[in-house]
Amino acid sequence: MTFEKKQWHVVLDPGHGGTESGFTADGAEEKTINLAVCLRLQQLLETYGVDVLLTRTGDTDVPAMKRAELASAMEADLFVSWHCDYLEDAEVSGVSLWVSETADEHCMIEFEMIGDALVDVTQQIMLGVFQDSDKVLSMVNVPALMIRGAFMSSPRELELCKNPDFLQAQAQGAARGILKVLQKLSPIR
Ligand SMILES: [Zn+2]
Repeated sequence: MTFEKKQWHVVLDPGHGGTESGFTADGAEEKTINLAVCLRLQQLLETYGVDVLLTRTGDTDVPAMKRAELASAMEADLFVSWHCDYLEDAEVSGVSLWVSETADEHCMIEFEMIGDALVDVTQQIMLGVFQDSDKVLSMVNVPALMIRGAFMSSPRELELCKNPDFLQAQAQGAARGILKVLQKLSPIR
């Protein structure tokens, strides 16, 4: 019996870019935070032998369709979009995970491991896995999720997002969770 060794492929999607700044608060722009985390996450996953592709590596706006197409072209095992969140209520903080409205329950349960692994490192609150009609997620035809890593409306989390150590911790936690999910969804034979 022979075993085919398969390498994992992951597409990381830093939300927004270019003229699309995403949320802004106190001089911080969401697009910059998203990219900073994804670049760190790429580095960590690559050290584990995961093949990583980013939908953008600079401050450019990439159309939703283009982002989704990259996942198909790469035959990715997982598509991970990174965003921040914002609410009127400055008291709300934590990490939430989002999947498309058509995602199956099985995926939602697996993805919860990523959120758990993330908050295990950052000591944030894990708010849960939710379904959303997000444009990019609905276009991706491989297992896909969006991580909203922090609330820019929370003064405490906004301050954390300006700290490279915190962004590194988020990437470390997410990388651990992503590796667990990859082992479950696409076991290396
Ligand atoms: Zn966003």
